[in-house]
Amino acid sequence: MDLGISGKRALVCASSRGLGRGCAEALAEAGCALVLNARGAEALENTAAEIRAAHGVEVTAVAADITSEDGRAEVLAAAQDVDILVTNAGGPPPGQWQDWSRADFIAALDANMLTPIALMSALMPAMMARGWGRVVNITSQSVKAPIAQLGLSNAARTGLTGYVAGTARQVAPFGVAVNNLLPGAHDTDRIAMLDANIARAQNTTPEEVRAGKHASIPARRYGTAAEFGAMCAFLCSQHAGYIIGQNILLDGGGINATL
Ligand code: NAP
Repeated sequence: MDLGISGKRALVCASSRGLGRGCAEALAEAGCALVLNARGAEALENTAAEIRAAHGVEVTAVAADITSEDGRAEVLAAAQDVDILVTNAGGPPPGQWQDWSRADFIAALDANMLTPIALMSALMPAMMARGWGRVVNITSQSVKAPIAQLGLSNAARTGLTGYVAGTARQVAPFGVAVNNLLPGAHDTDRIAMLDANIARAQNTTPEEVRAGKHASIPARRYGTAAEFGAMCAFLCSQHAGYIIGQNILLDGGGINATL
């Protein structure tokens, strides 16, 4: 399918690896010029070079912490007037509900709620003025079904979801479609870290944790960054202008719910 976005410019945050990279690859395949971002410069430059070589699109790499004001300013300076915004950042650390302090919550809200909101605030007015834009926020399945050890993520991402529900309907009349993509378990470094954490707590191995989780998912496996990226690119496509303020779950059937 031709996604109809060849020549558009996209900012994909937190994209040197994992789900962000999957989105960047799929948008590059659709012909978009990219601004990529991550904190680690070397991995980011390698990813940028690989995407340029594979897809022949222009790729600008900005090594910066997207959750800090200075980092965002650097990224935004390179990404003025993008047509497509994919927000993403690392997820909050796991832990116990009794242990989280106010400072822990502020950090999680800053990274996973206020950062995507700041990016939308900065970039959507120009999209609206041009009459076309797409925003995809990478959130989490925890918005639909809480994950016990990820209470900081449950809280921050649900806040973002409420903001998007209201805002998406205000920018839609100007041709800007905003939606959230909710990853269930996907095979990335983040899930490997979480599995290792559970293995330590349960005195078992990460491989056993992984096998148990695969067995609990109807698709019997973790998702891939490429599958995730393909859905992201579709939501950024010309075909998705009537999908507004939705929360699209990609979880292999893991959440047992009718809606
Ligand atoms: P990942 O494999 O750990 O990759 C994270 C990417 O984000 C890397 O490129 C990393 O590069 C970059 N990054 C992290 N913090 C950043 C920051 N402050 N500023 C700029 N770049 C940053 O993670 P992932 O699995 O792709 O997860 C992406 C998001 O989806 C996370 O918020 C995660 O919680 C959420 N999620 C993932 C899953 C899953 O199963 N994978 C499920 C639910 C939700 P640097 O470290 O060099 O900055």
